[in-house]
Amino acid sequence: MTVTVRFAPSPTGKIHVGNVRAALWNWLFARSRGGKFILRIDDTDQERSTKENEDRIREDLVWLGLNWDETFSQSARFGDYDEISDRLRASGLLYPCYETAEELERKRRLQRTRGLPPVYDRAALSLTAEQIAAFEAEGRKPHWRFKLSQTPVKWNDLIRGETVVDTANVSDPVLIREDGMYLYTLPSCIDDIDYGVTHVIRGEDHVTNAAVQVEIMDAVIAIRAGQGKTGALPAFAHHSLLIGADGQGLSKRLGSLSIEQMRADGLEAAAITSLLAKLGTAEPVLPQTDLMALAQTFDFEKVGRAPARFDEAELLQLNAKILHDQPFAALSTRLSALGVSESVWDAVKGNVVKLADAGVWRDIIEGAIEPTIENADFCAKASTLVPDEPLTSESWGVFVDRVKAATGAKGKALFHPLRLALTGREKGPEMATIFPLIGAQKARARLNGRNA
Ligand code: GLU
Repeated sequence: MTVTVRFAPSPTGKIHVGNVRAALWNWLFARSRGGKFILRIDDTDQERSTKENEDRIREDLVWLGLNWDETFSQSARFGDYDEISDRLRASGLLYPCYETAEELERKRRLQRTRGLPPVYDRAALSLTAEQIAAFEAEGRKPHWRFKLSQTPVKWNDLIRGETVVDTANVSDPVLIREDGMYLYTLPSCIDDIDYGVTHVIRGEDHVTNAAVQVEIMDAVIAIRAGQGKTGALPAFAHHSLLIGADGQGLSKRLGSLSIEQMRADGLEAAAITSLLAKLGTAEPVLPQTDLMALAQTFDFEKVGRAPARFDEAELLQLNAKILHDQPFAALSTRLSALGVSESVWDAVKGNVVKLADAGVWRDIIEGAIEPTIENADFCAKASTLVPDEPLTSESWGVFVDRVKAATGAKGKALFHPLRLALTGREKGPEMATIFPLIGAQKARARLNGRNA
């Protein structure tokens, strides 16, 4: 059996940390098993789906390194969905309903006041031919529900373990709206069977859907079997959802947690994947730029059921750690675009959180800055003690010894005013490393309070 998984975003918006975690886990699982990763675009809602969102999703996945082996859009498969729904109608598993949204809401309200669960009462199943004709004459169009078995559906969830959902407590799902639009459920079931999906990995908000889908998939498998095609139910793995560092759900903040936004904010793809791969597992979060290495250690056994905490501060720390380990060659195109040379990168990489910070340090080292002079006499004296070019890695030590001998300053009183004058900053990379890059001329000018 070839492991086959799919990531199935709806192109009605951007992808964010929440759904990218599902994408990543599908990808990692497929790669760990030499399997296949399918990108399926769930665009049956043609009013809300856009090509622009779809392109953006693909771009985000490529940027993250989550390449797919196969991709398709549900909008290209309406023929298959129509064929299966006709068969389901013929067998009575898909039945027409004529209630309006208001009527359904009224029924639910009534059930709630009686302390009953708001489950659809299947009134449509007992409509007479005359009643249906009357609705049709009124111009009402039916929506179509799938008739659930109203029995417990069980599966051994790879994350949640033994899981049971009694479909007697679930409303028969609407599969087709009155305007003929397919909701995601039926197309998803048909695709999962037709594409031989072996594992459905997604968030636990889909657990109830899974029970419904098992019943629909069984019906699809039976129809396909009649056509001489084999199909099998997939295994399920439903992961817990992310919560924020404050313990609250992320749903309200997902806009700012889109991959597009994170990328625009200068986060590294590897920081996002390193964090999301391990969040909610028993393993430590470590910087990892090699997705295949993450795949090798991926295992549902290590995944817990508790909600996983997504902390932006942790993401930033990871971003910094990833950058600190990068040689210039690995980032040369992006660093060159920032005007950062290899020697500047090597000098400052330990002090960046985001790559753009290297550009800020480049400006400090190679551009002109307004020096901060704490003690003008001390700095002016120091300016006369700057060694002559060429400055080397030894020069800072030589310079500092001279200033110490000439002024008697030591410790913070010695180093702090020099750093402030030379960089305009309280903190930063090792002075011994950046001093030669700043150069003697600029150093003297800055120590004299000149913009240089
Ligand atoms: N398009 C569905 C969603 O984004 C897919 C859910 C699934 O993985 O089955 O929620």
